[in-house]
Amino acid sequence: MSILKVARMGHPVLRECARPLEVDEISTPRIQRLIDDMFDTMHDSQGIGLAGPQVHESIRLFVAGVDDDEGTMPPVVIINPEITQVGSATEEDWEGCLSIPDIRGQVPRAADIRVQALDRYGKQLSMTANGYPARVIQHETDHLDGVLFFDRMKSFRSLTFLEEYSRYWSSRDE
Ligand code: ZN
Repeated sequence: MSILKVARMGHPVLRECARPLEVDEISTPRIQRLIDDMFDTMHDSQGIGLAGPQVHESIRLFVAGVDDDEGTMPPVVIINPEITQVGSATEEDWEGCLSIPDIRGQVPRAADIRVQALDRYGKQLSMTANGYPARVIQHETDHLDGVLFFDRMKSFRSLTFLEEYSRYWSSRDE
């Protein structure tokens, strides 16, 4: 296991459109190890999602998963995702990003989505997601298209440093 270096905002890899993975490529030791390292890196940074471009790999793959006060989402590996919105409801809520450290902002996202993708075994994965997991999946999929959460904000008025977020805006007891 290794902890990978996380690309920060300004690194060009975060603005590239990542390439899809071939099915045959998914089972290679390189990709399987990358997936394990991405989980280790995500946990080490206390993140809830991490996309390939964030670890300097311009490929359409991300890992996600969390179980804390802000939400619960079982660990997933999502490769070559196609996302469609279900219904028209949107929700605005707080997001952060390991590539934009110590900043939070409110981002509108589709409340309900359907995801078609491949899993870490190259098998078809079809799922629906609502609320918090839907938000995480949309945030991570954006990374595969070179989009950061700032790009999705309706206004920058909610931008907040983590310390002020914890003090004034978080529902957590910290
Ligand atoms: Zn991010």
